[in-house]
Amino acid sequence: MGGRFLSIGECMVELSQAKDGHLRKGFAGDTFNTAWYARACMPQDWSVDYFTALGDDAMSDEMLDFMGAHGIGTANIRRLLGKTPGLYMINLKDGERSFSYWRDSSAARQLAADGDQLRTAIEASDVLYFSGITLAILSHEDAETLLAELRRAKAIGKLVAFDPNIRPRLWSSLDAMHTLIGEGARASTLVMPSFDDEAAHFGDDSIAGTIRRYRQHGANMVVVKNGPEGATIGTDAGETLVPAVKVAKVVDTTSAGDSFNGAFLADYLEHDDPIAAAHFAAVIAAKVIQEHGALVPPEKLQTAD
Ligand code: ADP
Repeated sequence: MGGRFLSIGECMVELSQAKDGHLRKGFAGDTFNTAWYARACMPQDWSVDYFTALGDDAMSDEMLDFMGAHGIGTANIRRLLGKTPGLYMINLKDGERSFSYWRDSSAARQLAADGDQLRTAIEASDVLYFSGITLAILSHEDAETLLAELRRAKAIGKLVAFDPNIRPRLWSSLDAMHTLIGEGARASTLVMPSFDDEAAHFGDDSIAGTIRRYRQHGANMVVVKNGPEGATIGTDAGETLVPAVKVAKVVDTTSAGDSFNGAFLADYLEHDDPIAAAHFAAVIAAKVIQEHGALVPPEKLQTAD
């Protein structure tokens, strides 16, 4: 039995350097990456849509075409006159990657500015996904609009999944970051944090502490990712550690967490078994980190089953 999955956030233009020094253009962003992996792993009776705002320039057109060509629905994407998508560049120096961003005035910052359109899209969906980055790029008022719609969705029993994806630099203040990430969890049924981030920014001294904190905010299930250590699922039934899949050589960890989330949701929606879903997600994330780039093509994600 299928349904409609909607991921909400910002997809950016990505520039990375090829070996010959030329720049290569791609498209990526945490919530879009998760939509990509959800699309790759979900059965065809599930639709996967992306919710954002774009501009009216050629780059926005190209991004929309790219999404559509890969099976991701774009009907909910608003186009804003005179705006452009955000952009980031991956710099490589002595094997170390660093990122430069141009996203302060991207169209996506207005994604929740039209409350009616947002409500219509959320009402038409069965499963919602968003992140701390989605909240961080919005004005306080728009973040509250989005959270109110997500709380409505949660109240009528929809699955609302949230990755806090903590990026202090995106927030106007640490206070706002702590408050809105708490509100994000309150609006969600499933929270999918990364332990490193939570320990660094919320001072959690254990995975159990992260699970407790988000469950106190009202999330029914918490799935804490912890790199090569695996992921721990916390529910009313207790906590279960699902180990990561051993990888001979890690090539690029970009999208490890995003792909884990997309694969977890795909499997969980089909089989309703979080432990099996975490095993499946660990297999997909292990494949992703053995390839370059944020968006690994679906044919490279094939599993034995
Ligand atoms: P994030 O990218 O959000 O920081 P993590 O680093 O915790 O997320 O990774 C998410 C998932 O990716 C992990 O739960 C694990 O399944 C997989 N993973 C990440 N790093 C490794 C690794 N070195 N070896 C095997 N699996 C990994």
